[in-house]
Amino acid sequence: MSIRVLTEEVASQIAAGEVVERPASVVKELVENSIDAGARDVQVEARGGGKQLIRVSDDGCGVPAADAELAFHRHSTSKLTTADDLIRITTLGFRGEALASIAAVSRVTFVTRSADDTVGALLRLEGLRVTTRQESGRPPGTAVTVEDLFFNIPARLKFLRTERTERRHIDSWLTRYAMAYPEVRFTLNHDGRTVFQSPGLGPDRLRDVLVEVYGLEIGAAVIEILPNGQLASSIQVAGFVGPPSLHRANRGYITLFVNGRWVQDIRLSYAIIQAYHTLLPSGRYPLAVVMVCVPPEEVDVNVHPAKSEVRFRDGDAVFRAVQKAVRHTLLERSPVPIAARALTAWPGSSAQRQSERRERLAELRPQSTGEQLRFGEKPIDGAGDVRAPSKDRLPPLRVVGQLGVTYVVAEGPEGLYLIDQHAAHERVLFERLLAARKRADTASQELLEPQPVELSTDAAGLLEEHLETLASLGFQMEPFGGTTMLVRALPALVAQDNPRQVLEDIAAAFLAGDAPLAGKVEEAVARSVCKRAAIKAGQVMAQAEMEELIRALEQCTSSRTCPHGRPTMIHLSVEQLAREFGR
Ligand code: ADP
Ligand code: MG
Repeated sequence: MSIRVLTEEVASQIAAGEVVERPASVVKELVENSIDAGARDVQVEARGGGKQLIRVSDDGCGVPAADAELAFHRHSTSKLTTADDLIRITTLGFRGEALASIAAVSRVTFVTRSADDTVGALLRLEGLRVTTRQESGRPPGTAVTVEDLFFNIPARLKFLRTERTERRHIDSWLTRYAMAYPEVRFTLNHDGRTVFQSPGLGPDRLRDVLVEVYGLEIGAAVIEILPNGQLASSIQVAGFVGPPSLHRANRGYITLFVNGRWVQDIRLSYAIIQAYHTLLPSGRYPLAVVMVCVPPEEVDVNVHPAKSEVRFRDGDAVFRAVQKAVRHTLLERSPVPIAARALTAWPGSSAQRQSERRERLAELRPQSTGEQLRFGEKPIDGAGDVRAPSKDRLPPLRVVGQLGVTYVVAEGPEGLYLIDQHAAHERVLFERLLAARKRADTASQELLEPQPVELSTDAAGLLEEHLETLASLGFQMEPFGGTTMLVRALPALVAQDNPRQVLEDIAAAFLAGDAPLAGKVEEAVARSVCKRAAIKAGQVMAQAEMEELIRALEQCTSSRTCPHGRPTMIHLSVEQLAREFGR
């Protein structure tokens, strides 16, 4: 084959592929442009997960009407002139590629007005060809509408995921930028419904953004990273970290920014995780939103067209700064479970106090509960470092009452017990279920008539592999063609529930790493069933019910942890209480 130069059109589509991978990449690039333009109000609208339409409007500086077309030429940018400028990049964009790339693979309408112009410009482009050019009235700022993404690249279009998935990617980008720029008000609208809005109250109002992103409880619980004498250093670390009680199953809640740019950096994530060393149960990850600021010449952001990777001149120094700032903040500020909190008021030098506090933290065995993250449900567990409790069996306890419709307060010869009702009940059900299975008399309940249940492909595949184990726990079902199972009976514990949800839950637990390795399947299924069947936090319990729960818990062999391995209770010993009260 002879060598030919690619046509402009093909070349630009290839180049576009690096910048525009999916609708969310368009949102990212356009939002970055709005931020670079100094916008204070950025509105994002998407239809069909962004496949049909994406519109980003801002009140930024706008583009002079005379330059509007130029903005769509590849390598045209107002942010960089010489290669030397690359060394000090302070804007999010600089490659002059985004608009050209987007226009190469979609239909774009660009309306802009700079504050100096009396009228704005409107451009319509289709696969980079300008089809309309006219004057347009609008307040200063820019609105870019991107329709029919990849209309001219069917191969790309085919690779887009479901609307829901694409929407989720858009949500992620928008919330990231909302966190990075708390002074900007971001609004996100999907198919006509506003799903997110950040308040845009000011650069120091990140917490208000976190409330919108993660909800009130987390917003209130997160701890602001302390300056830690960084003033002298050129590496600044700011942001918020979750208290150790707020942990999650994966790293997805660690959000990192370097000079206002969201980055994926395994090492920096690790620096944060390490800062929580001994404070989190093993296999759990913290929530953190960390902003690293370094002089622009210390970091290379021009590693990849999507710019979510960076290279530091001194990576180790950045790692140390992040780890130190987070660790310091946690040790100083972390709200710790009841007993340990009082210790902060102890006399003694601050260093002494800190090491004492750390020891006490490692001793505590606080309460916990199921998978959902609800603040206060999963406090510090120094897993790994914690000594096994001397006895796993509970002494006889007297129920005092229910606290916050979530915990049972009880006392025993050895002090006070705060018991998480959900976690405790899960434990009770779990041990009963496995004992019944051993005796081969698992309570199974037949459905009134066999029910065909259509499952997701993943779930159907996973469950089919383990039909036998499922049967031993009370699930009677058989494949019924495609991804459908014909369900005849369920374990009595969940017989009243929607069979599809019960089965999807189990599959989700498998997928989430409650691994269906040989021998573990049974427990994973049992855990999932018990989690569903256990009394929830927020459910009122009568005195007699609490007593029954505590009696049952006393019978358990591992009463102090729930089946997922997290604590069911906080115990405050008589000595601890006496000490706290200075007796
Ligand atoms: P880059 O952001 O790397 O400069 P883009 O292709 O994203 O490249 O944008 C090209 C140019 O268009 C920018 O440098 C800027 O001058 C102008 N521009 C794009 N979007 C906006 C906007 N929302 N407000 C003001 N100017 C914009
Ligand atoms: Mg740009």
